[in-house]
Amino acid sequence: MRILVISDIHGNYPALEAVLASAVTVDAVWCLGDLVGYGPFPNECVERIATLPNLTCLSGNHDLAVVNSRDIDRFNDEASHVIYWTKREISRDNLDFLSKLPETISTDWVTLAHGSPRMPTWEYLIDQMSAMVNFAFFETQLALVGHSHLPLAFTVNASGDSVNRTLLQPGNVFKIESRCIFNPGSVGQPRDHDPRASYGILDPEEQTWEIHRVKYDVKKTQKAIEKAGLPEKLCRRLEEGW
Ligand SMILES: [Zn+2]
Repeated sequence: MRILVISDIHGNYPALEAVLASAVTVDAVWCLGDLVGYGPFPNECVERIATLPNLTCLSGNHDLAVVNSRDIDRFNDEASHVIYWTKREISRDNLDFLSKLPETISTDWVTLAHGSPRMPTWEYLIDQMSAMVNFAFFETQLALVGHSHLPLAFTVNASGDSVNRTLLQPGNVFKIESRCIFNPGSVGQPRDHDPRASYGILDPEEQTWEIHRVKYDVKKTQKAIEKAGLPEKLCRRLEEGW
């Protein structure tokens, strides 16, 4: 079984299309939120995600800000600029879809959250300290999070007193042998200085996790950012991956 795990699409439709084409056959899609924000194609992204078969989808902080202005003062200037623009552009149906998304979901094996198990919407899991604390906030073997836009893996040792942190590279199959927190990286705005769209493939039977990276038409997204009058800085960060 192959589950496509994606996060932080951020209105970057060319990147989303490249990921879906690259992942080819999957049995399910788990999306960890932030379908919109930063990017110029919010409607296209929401519509494409909403129609994927066997979809499980969470809301992220940008989605919630577009839906109900939640925590809008916590965003930087560029991000809040695009949130107000997205509020004007997004269709009623797509807003309705975003408004119904849950903030967290758990099965008997895995917990899903946009930010972290402790604070599902806003906490960034970037370092060992914050990951260590978060292992106490979910009971499943695995947690999947997004939000940092970094393809990170955190694993805890058997006694639960130390955490390993790895920035995963594509092509390495990660065997799940302990409790783990994985981040698939970002589809639409990677921040590890690799501008390629990032996604994860989870195989529950093989107990494996693998990061994939795929090139997409960055120029197409940049042109649409310019055409929409969105901040120029957002173009630069896409081609540089930060
Ligand atoms: Zn994000």
